[in-house]
Order: sequence, then C-alpha cells, then structure tokens
Amino acid sequence: MDKPVLYIVVPCYNEEEVLHETTKRLTEKMNKMIAEGNISGESRIMYVNDGSKDKTWDIISEYYEKNPLVTGLCLSRNRGHQNALLAGLMTAKEYADAVISMDADLQDDVEAVDRFVEEFKKGSDIVYGVRSSRKKDSFFKKHTALMFYKIMEKMGVEIVYNHADYRLMSKRALEGLAEFKEVNLFLRGIVPMIGYKSSTVSYERDKRFAGESKYPLKKMISFAVDGITSCSVKPIRMITSAGLIISFLSVILLIYVIVGHFMGNTVQGWPTLMVLICFFGGFQIMSIGIVGEYVGKIYMETKERPRYIIKDKLLK
Ligand code: UDP
Ligand code: MG
Repeated sequence: MDKPVLYIVVPCYNEEEVLHETTKRLTEKMNKMIAEGNISGESRIMYVNDGSKDKTWDIISEYYEKNPLVTGLCLSRNRGHQNALLAGLMTAKEYADAVISMDADLQDDVEAVDRFVEEFKKGSDIVYGVRSSRKKDSFFKKHTALMFYKIMEKMGVEIVYNHADYRLMSKRALEGLAEFKEVNLFLRGIVPMIGYKSSTVSYERDKRFAGESKYPLKKMISFAVDGITSCSVKPIRMITSAGLIISFLSVILLIYVIVGHFMGNTVQGWPTLMVLICFFGGFQIMSIGIVGEYVGKIYMETKERPRYIIKDKLLK
C-alpha cells in the first residue's frame, strides 16, 4: 500500500491543558507526511473524549470546525483509558488502513509516527512502540513498572516489555481485535494474541506535557491486578499448589505429633499454635479473595454489558 489512510486515535480525559499543543504537533506531523506522499490525504486525528469534566470536548469540537484533520468521538461517560481507546480503534477501523493509538499528553514521541508507518509498509500488522529508557520516570514509577512486568512474566501473560499503548495496528489486526468480546479489557495482553507479523519501534518517552497523570497509584494497582487476572489463571493454580504443599507439611507435622505423644513429650507450644492459626486464617482469606477476583470477572463477563457508549460522533 503506497499511501495508507492513517488514523491516530487519542483518548482524552480532562486534557484541556495539553490538547492545543497535541493538536499542533499532530497536525504538523500529519500534514508533512501527507505532503511527502507517505500517507493518504484522507488520514485523520481522532480524539476520544472519555467523559471529561473540563473543556476537553469543547476544544475538540472547536478543532473539528477549523482543522480539517481533526475528528472526535464523545463517550456517554468516563469509561477508563482502555475502553476509550477501544471505542476509538473500533470506529477508526472502518475508515483507516492503519491506526496508531497515542496518549494525549505528548509522552509518546510524535516523531516516531514515521517509523511506525514504515514498519507497516514493510508488512507488519502490529507495530509496538517500546520505550528506549525510563530515565525521565520518577524512581517510584520506574520500580513499580519493573515489578509489574516481572509479575506479568511470572504469570505467563505475554506482553511486550516497556510497551504501553503506543502502537500501530492494521485494519485486519483491528478486525481481529474486534473478535475479542471481553469486558475486562487489558489491551496490552490481548493484542499479542491476535497474531500476524509484528515489529517494534523504540522511542524516548517524555514527561507529561502539562496537567497531571490520570493514573494515580490506586488506578495503577487495579490496572495491574486486572491485567493479571484477565489474562492468566496462574494465581488460582498457585493457591492449589500452596494448598498441596501445606497439606503435605501438615501430614509430616501430624506424624511428628503422634510420635511425640508416644515418646511421652508433654503438650506445649501455645505460641506456635497461635502463629499457625493466624497464618492459615490469613492465607485462606487471601485465597478466597483471589478466587473471588475471578468470580467477579466471570460475573461481569456474563452480563456482556457494553464497553462504551458513543454519545457524539464528529467525523469527516
Ligand atoms: N485517559 C482516559 N480515561 C481515563 C484516564 C486516562 O482516556 O479514565 C487517557 C488520558 O487522557 C491520556 C491517557 O489515557 O491520554 C493516559 O493517561 P495518563 O497520561 O494520565 O497516564 P500515565 O501516562 O500517567 O500513565
Ligand atoms: Mg501520560
């Protein structure tokens, strides 16, 4: 494909502070690529307003009027980053040959777009943006992120190291993605399951241009837990293994107690008993909690509730 139609999907939640700069940079980039004949003139930027409480949607509508490249979707309410992204991808796939997803805060390097398209033209259906380093992250974010990837790997979830949601997907890869109906959406875990030829593009991830992160610690933890539990059942297996090991140990303990009884040792060890009771009490509750996490997921999946509802569409 010589001049693919490229859509850049950008989920936005309370991003009024960054939208002007983002639009400026994306428009410059796209116009340049169109002028150079790298992409089709039908290419567009697609903002997805994820139920913002600030002026985000007004700004998007304004740009829609005056900037020929800008289109927009407005969700009926806040549904979270992953669902907003999905809404954009599913809408854009109807018009585009390839879609790039990008954050609104300019952390994802706009200059890398050329290389994404190059890889796409070379035949990749999925191109992952991978961070070359984490120099600009805070100490805390760096280490929690590292832990996240380690745990995911241990849990057998196939995800691309240091890749967030900056990626290009071809039309047929998006059609593949549309077949995944799950409500508990963890795109980074699902995308590698689609298959097709993939490649990576490395880029330097910048600091947020303005405004604050929409992922506070609480959301980050629940994102990580969701990621693991919606892609892997290993935690349940681990409980089973732990249960087996504990049963085995208790048989040994039982033999020890019986032998001790016949050897005439008097009963003692109230502290040991208490420690064991507390330990197993806690362990059992935690195990039930982990199983419950899955039961909750099943509950949500069986309801098959819509993942997003689009209130307004500004397309052209
Ligand atoms: N975002 C969204 N809905 C939400 C939270 C975030 O659409 O409920 C968007 C946000 O506008 C941004 C992207 O998701 O474009 C990533 O969010 P953010 O930059 O705050 O996350 P961080 O980079 O701190 O992980
Ligand atoms: Mg960000």
